Amino acid sequence: MESLPTWRLDDLYADLDDPKIAGDLAAVAAEAEAFGARWEGRIEALDGDGLAELLGAYSALLSRMYRPQMFASLSASTDALDEAVKALSARVNEQATAIGNALRFVDVALANASPEAHARWAASPACAGLLHHLQRARAARPHTLDAAVESALATKDLTGRRAWSRLYDELCAAWRFDFTVEGETQSLNLAALRSLREDPDRAVRRRASEAILTRFSEHAPTFAYIVNTLYQDHKLETALRRYTDVAGPTLLDDELPRATLDALLTAVEAHYPVAQRFFAAKARALGLPRLESHDLLAPFPGGDRLVSWAEARAEVLGAFGALDPEIEADARAFFDDRRIDARPRPGKRDGAFCAGMVPGVAPRVLVNFHGRLRDVYTLAHELGHGVHFTLAGKAQRLLNYWPTSPMAETASVFGEMVLTRRLLARETDPDVRRQLLAARIEEALGTIHRQVAFTRYELNAHLARARANLSTDDLSALWSAESERLYGDAVQRGALDRWGWVGIPHLVHYRFYCYSYAFGQLLVFALYRLWEQEGEAFVPKYKRLLASGGCDTPASLLAALGIDITDPSFWARGLDVVTEMVDAFVAEEGAAGE
Ligand SMILES: [Zn+2]
Repeated sequence: MESLPTWRLDDLYADLDDPKIAGDLAAVAAEAEAFGARWEGRIEALDGDGLAELLGAYSALLSRMYRPQMFASLSASTDALDEAVKALSARVNEQATAIGNALRFVDVALANASPEAHARWAASPACAGLLHHLQRARAARPHTLDAAVESALATKDLTGRRAWSRLYDELCAAWRFDFTVEGETQSLNLAALRSLREDPDRAVRRRASEAILTRFSEHAPTFAYIVNTLYQDHKLETALRRYTDVAGPTLLDDELPRATLDALLTAVEAHYPVAQRFFAAKARALGLPRLESHDLLAPFPGGDRLVSWAEARAEVLGAFGALDPEIEADARAFFDDRRIDARPRPGKRDGAFCAGMVPGVAPRVLVNFHGRLRDVYTLAHELGHGVHFTLAGKAQRLLNYWPTSPMAETASVFGEMVLTRRLLARETDPDVRRQLLAARIEEALGTIHRQVAFTRYELNAHLARARANLSTDDLSALWSAESERLYGDAVQRGALDRWGWVGIPHLVHYRFYCYSYAFGQLLVFALYRLWEQEGEAFVPKYKRLLASGGCDTPASLLAALGIDITDPSFWARGLDVVTEMVDAFVAEEGAAGE
């Protein structure tokens, strides 16, 4: 394959030994101390001008602290095995935690400020761009502890919650599997073995799947211990912070009422039969009486054609260009400025991400490009994020820059939709068209239905853990109950499938993050509908939405496009798009069978 690009990071620092890294950290640490001496204890009494000055200085310090952090974390993502990178990451993280602690009083003081102080700031023109930040702080007030306690909790998290989460990663990363394909035995890691669950050969898929689940079952007691500890930690912290809802911290961060989460979960669960209809049709397409769980990711016959990097780039930019020239130009800049790392290599992490950085520092994209059609979709997805950050970076300052999690996947998934539109418009081969459709359906079921099943499992597991320690069987029973609801009779599950809960990192690293994928995907279906209906008129509204970053709540940002996320039928409308795709697939499948 042609040579694939790696990224440049030299706008941040020249290399790992750049003395400016330590210099910046030391300077920020000293300034953070001076900042604390100047402002700590004074915030409540500030007028609007004073508060704007304080938050300006605070943002500047945060931005400067993020630079070494971003450099270390981006370096680690392509060179995880390098000792110098590990040492840098550890050093930077320790110092950044200390600086974060020195600055924490700002958030705490804003959250604990009196209603009179908030009213004074809200009325001041100097604070006009800070209203949403202040509103978030006000909402956090009932759950914020004293500055000293907040610092102690954040510090202890390094050896508590975060250490358990890292142990989970390290255990999984250390696994090797001796696996034989076509007479040749290889030592594979978990990610490589997982990818064999998409092999065209059913026996390979079954063996790969069984090897993974067997390993999960062998280590289940350790993982159950990690899960129990983390969920207990969550329970203690939510109690300390006076939350009554186990999902309270997530919903506060995401600025959504619990009713919106419940409406989303209920609507998707009611849609499980449509997913089952697709699984039955997929079984017919594969010539199977019924799917077994290791067939869920099976490819469709017809084969995947290989795509070069140059083609992938042209497809994605062409698709983005059909939406808007500025969006295309912002995506193109990632290629031109060498802000994409696409070459797979030892020590580089799996998967893909877009690092949003801070306003004024250009975002980066990491992918592992193998030339499959799916890799083109991943590129469109991550560049969608990249455009989102670029537009928000032009319009917002730091405190309003980051979109909240439920909004974070908007541009990425929209990027995939416009890519599908371009590919379908040109494709005439019915087999390829059917594959494109199936890939979109599977993507939708994976991000909507499966993530909702994860979220329901996570909610139930947290509630059960609040009552008592959970055995491996307890966790497996909760897991199997949600699989049963999602797959029903359409997918035959084996005895080992009950260990699936071991293998979902999001349920270890985060709390209730998975629902936001479903939120994002359904939201994008609704937005895509609007684009189809309104054409050109939709585009400026969409770009304003992206440029808004996190400057307002999801409900208000979307209200500007006529979308009401508190209306339960909103989710049903998004799900209609999935139903239509499944109907189209089933119809083509029926026609192909005649
Ligand atoms: Zn994403």
